[in-house]
Amino acid sequence: PAVSDERTLRVILANPRGFCAGVTRAIEIVEKCLDLYEHPVYVRHEIVHNKHVVESLRSKGALFVDELDEIPDGALTVFSAHGVPKAVVDEAARRTLPVVDATCPLVSRVHKEGQNHVAKGREVVLIGHEGHPEVEGTQGQIPGGVHLVSRPEDVERLSISDPNEIAYVTQTTLSVDDTREVIEALKRRFPNIQGPDVKDICYATQNRQSAVREIAREADLLLVVGARNSSNSNRLREIGTQMGKPSYLIDDASGLDPAWLDGVATVAVTAGASAPEGLVRDLVNRLRDFGRVEVVEQKGVDEHMQFKLPRLPQIGDRQRP
Ligand code: SF4
Repeated sequence: PAVSDERTLRVILANPRGFCAGVTRAIEIVEKCLDLYEHPVYVRHEIVHNKHVVESLRSKGALFVDELDEIPDGALTVFSAHGVPKAVVDEAARRTLPVVDATCPLVSRVHKEGQNHVAKGREVVLIGHEGHPEVEGTQGQIPGGVHLVSRPEDVERLSISDPNEIAYVTQTTLSVDDTREVIEALKRRFPNIQGPDVKDICYATQNRQSAVREIAREADLLLVVGARNSSNSNRLREIGTQMGKPSYLIDDASGLDPAWLDGVATVAVTAGASAPEGLVRDLVNRLRDFGRVEVVEQKGVDEHMQFKLPRLPQIGDRQRP
C-alpha cells in the first residue's frame, strides 16, 4: 500500500513486554550447551513457546523432540522452561542421560509448594489449563497427582476426601483476574484451603498483564506478538478483548491484517514472555507502511529479575574442544 502522508498512527509499546528472566535463562542454557558440547544438543519440547526462537536454535544445532525415547543414549538433553513430570526426570536418570534442566525456577517453586502440601497430608488442587506442558509437568511433580481446575464451575465437581486437608497451587502464566475468581470459589467451598493467593502467577505474567491493561485503555487496537501456544500471550490478548478492544495475537509482522487498521489512530503493542524484541521492531516497521508512525514507550515498571544458570554436566569426550 502507498504510504499515506495524512495518516498518523500512534503506537504505544507496553512496558514491560517480551522476554522474562525464565525465558532468557532457558535460551542461554541451550546456547551455552551448543557452545560447549558436541552437536546435536537434544531439547525435550520447544525450549520456550516461540517458533522464531526454536528455529534460530535449531539452525545452530539444537534438535527438538517430544519425548525422551527419541534421544540416543549418552546425548546431552535439555528440559524446557515449562518443567517436566517426575517420571521424565526418573527415566532420564535411569538412562543416565546427561541432563541440563532449563525449568524456570518460578515453575520449580510451584512444584516444591505442591510437594510440601502433600508431605503435610493435603490433597492439591492445581489451577491451570489442561494439556499445557507446564501443567503436565506440575501434575507429574506432585506425588499422588492433583485435581485440575480451570474455571470457577470446576470447583463444584471436585471430590475431596477431607475438606480440611486441601491446598491449591496455580500455573504461572494465568490471568490474574480469572484466577482470583477460581480461588474465591475454592475458598467458598473449602474455607480452610491453604494457598498462595495469586502469587504462583509469576512476576513477568503479572507485570505484562498490568501494563497491557493500562495501554489498551488508550488504544483502538491491541496487537500481541506471541505464539498461539503461548499461555501468557493468550492471556494478554484476552485482556484487550475483555476491555472491548479489537485484539489480535500474531506470530510476527506477517500476521498483521491491514484491515485491522481501518479507522484506527492508536495501536497498543505488547509481546508475550517468549517473543523476541526483534519481532516487535519488525511489527512497528510494518506499521510504517500504513502511515506516519509515532512510537510512545509506556513508562511501566522496571524488572530486575535474573536467574543463575544451572551447573552443566561433565561428559568427557562429548565436550567440544
Ligand atoms: Fe518463568 Fe514466568 Fe517466564 Fe514462565 S513466564 S518462564 S514462570 S518468569
